[in-house]
Amino acid sequence: MRWMISIVPLIVCTLLFAAGKGSDAPVNDKDYYGDTASNDPVFVSFISEGSNLNRSTYTLKELDMVVRENRNTEFVLGESKYGQKINAYYIPGTSHQKALVIAGVHGSELSAIDVACRLTNELLQGQQPYYSVIIVPALFPENAVKAISEPEQIGSTMNVGRYSYPDAVDPNRQMPSPGKAFDENNCTDHVGRKIEQENQLLLKLIEVFKPQRVANIHAIRDTSYGGIYADPRTDHNGLALGYSTDSILAVEMALFIHRQGGNVAGNKLDRSPTALYYKDPQPVAAGLLQKRNMTGSVLNAKRGSGVSFGTWGSTAIANEADTSRNRDAMRIITIEYPGYKRSSDHRTASRRTVQQKQTELFAAAIKEIFLGKYFTEDKSPEMQNGPNYTAMKSRP
Ligand SMILES: [Zn+2]
Repeated sequence: MRWMISIVPLIVCTLLFAAGKGSDAPVNDKDYYGDTASNDPVFVSFISEGSNLNRSTYTLKELDMVVRENRNTEFVLGESKYGQKINAYYIPGTSHQKALVIAGVHGSELSAIDVACRLTNELLQGQQPYYSVIIVPALFPENAVKAISEPEQIGSTMNVGRYSYPDAVDPNRQMPSPGKAFDENNCTDHVGRKIEQENQLLLKLIEVFKPQRVANIHAIRDTSYGGIYADPRTDHNGLALGYSTDSILAVEMALFIHRQGGNVAGNKLDRSPTALYYKDPQPVAAGLLQKRNMTGSVLNAKRGSGVSFGTWGSTAIANEADTSRNRDAMRIITIEYPGYKRSSDHRTASRRTVQQKQTELFAAAIKEIFLGKYFTEDKSPEMQNGPNYTAMKSRP
């Protein structure tokens, strides 16, 4: 048999978590979690009462089966460059609109992975979201393992786990040219460098699943820049399509967190609310050429430069010979969680409590607003901005 499904009523997701957490350490069942998880003490699984998840051995090639079965399903996105399974979770929504949530593009940003795991848990136990969503909690699992294996350095400027190997290109800066589809026969980025395998899988996932919106969860060391940001969408030539609904969606997510006591300082909600990341060029009016930020961290050999996921994703693809590879600009929300540490990485109980609350709020903002019926990309007139926005303003 090519595949097998286990219906496991009490399981949530196979998560990345630090080993050695004493009585908190959950079950690590070889039958369920496979050899990799069993052999690697860092990969453990959390089990929650009352959730429903079908753990399948489907891979990206069988994504159509995952979607057709229309139930909460764990599947394997693929293998990382060193053979680690990259898990993904499909949660069907109440509509045909599709969203993608990714975390762990930078393995050092463990708090971001934690948010994605919590979101997965919440979705498996709660009400169906409006959007049908795929969540990839740790796109570069080995890099996250590296970060976890040096607990004293979590959050330090050593940035353990950010890059896949010495001299590797920034994982968030190795996308194809804006306006162009991923070329599987070539696998190179905008400036001709090889795209790492994990990012290749992400690009294939987007081509097959065709999400209308993506939340890319990162974390940022300087907590004054933590917040929820949106990339301005453009056509395939880089001409702006209009930023208002993207920015309002991001600011509404930030407000949701802020009103409940979370930290989204980078959105400047008390002065002049913004969804613009502080390093990005100002969004321009629809029809004008949108400048993009092509330089990230300052590294030798320009390893920190290149096309970011946000730029590539928010640019439409057109004119491909295979027209199935064309797509609209995706709505890209980039989340910068303040600080790299997970709740469990903090030494004092009070810090752990604060971080736990913060993690819950970021996950809830994604669940309630990003995956909710707000500013949907459905082009039918009744689904356009007015009613969505009105509904959102009445939120607590
Ligand atoms: Zn990052």
